[in-house]
Amino acid sequence: MLSKRAKEIKPSPTLTIDSKAKAMKAEGLDVISFGVGEPDFDTPENIKEAGIKAVRDGFTKYTAVGGTDKLKDAIIGKLEADNGLAYGRAEIIVSCGAKHSLYNAMQALLDPGDEVVIPAPYWVSYPEQVALAGATPVFVKTLEADRFLLTAAAFEKSVTGRTKALILNSPSNPTGFSYDSEALGRIAEIAVKNGIYIISDEIYEKLLYDGARHVSIASLGEEVKKRTIVVNGVSKAYSMTGWRIGYAAGPAPLIKAMTSIQSQSTSNPTSISQAAAIEALTGPQDSVARMAAEFDKRRGRIVEALNSIEGIRCIPPTGAFYVFPNTRALYAKSPVISSSSKLAMYLLEKAMVAVVPGDAFGDDDFIRLSYATGIEQIEKGVERIRAALQAL
Ligand code: PMP
Ligand code: GLU
Repeated sequence: MLSKRAKEIKPSPTLTIDSKAKAMKAEGLDVISFGVGEPDFDTPENIKEAGIKAVRDGFTKYTAVGGTDKLKDAIIGKLEADNGLAYGRAEIIVSCGAKHSLYNAMQALLDPGDEVVIPAPYWVSYPEQVALAGATPVFVKTLEADRFLLTAAAFEKSVTGRTKALILNSPSNPTGFSYDSEALGRIAEIAVKNGIYIISDEIYEKLLYDGARHVSIASLGEEVKKRTIVVNGVSKAYSMTGWRIGYAAGPAPLIKAMTSIQSQSTSNPTSISQAAAIEALTGPQDSVARMAAEFDKRRGRIVEALNSIEGIRCIPPTGAFYVFPNTRALYAKSPVISSSSKLAMYLLEKAMVAVVPGDAFGDDDFIRLSYATGIEQIEKGVERIRAALQAL
């Protein structure tokens, strides 16, 4: 009955673990979730009010497929002010989340036979979206010692006559590391030289620590800008995961094709959420800095706590709200935890702590913990992990 595509697609493991943890909670179990990457803060009040006002004003009908002009203008203003990037309306599309913008980009850019370079560890949806477009993911392993950043040499080695695109995610999910402009410059040079497009997922740009600064690879010159699709959204920076607004900026013909695809699948993103996103992007920004400061505190706490457990090594990341500790030394301890997925299963069942196994991101030597949860939960959760490991 099922298509080849449907048979092959894997459901998002991060969302699957989240559903499992939420179901356990609903049964009354005291689960601590480091699973899904979702800020635990409420959407700021001014943004919620903008959504409520849109409903009251009757702004509840179809809009232009690729988003309202007003929201596109707010996005253009944001890209100019934050990233030094100049785009016109024809180079912007608003979608139902950054995930949807990425999906549309893959559908508009890729053909069967095309190769897409994906640095591993990678976010779970990239390979699946590439495969759904009929193209082939080519994984390039990055090293913990390089802070999981793709080196220019490794990128260059992976390039073949079929390489169509590279997916970059800075700051990264799951590793929490980000690229500086020199590293991006070296990657951009190879992409331009080989005519490779860059899909640059910048959804965590506002969450950076220890003085790290976000640079969009598209801002490094006209040549690389022409070949880059910048993807971003309001989910993470404004704690708006449920509102489903993301966007992409890139070459007009590609954006036009993405808009046609969107017109035949979802139509416009929710009108009400678009109104709220305008307030997010153009209203007061102090809530962003407040959330980032809180994440920073939690980051310090979780890194320290994890490093105090024998067999776990966690280098402090500089962005997003994930830590990606090395758990390989634990696997020899017992067959019950001899891989990242077994370890994650054990921790969920024995300690009632949800984490995501590294194999979901293409590296079994690690697990991912999202610290988008309160300090007390972090402390309690890590203590439970310690106790569960000691019990083996
Ligand atoms: N990219 C990355 C790296 C992410 O972690 C997420 C979070 N789900 C997304 C894109 C998609 O975000 P959203 O669809 O909620 O805008
Ligand atoms: N990006 C988040 C995560 O990785 C949300 C889940 C998802 O969209 O897969 O946990």
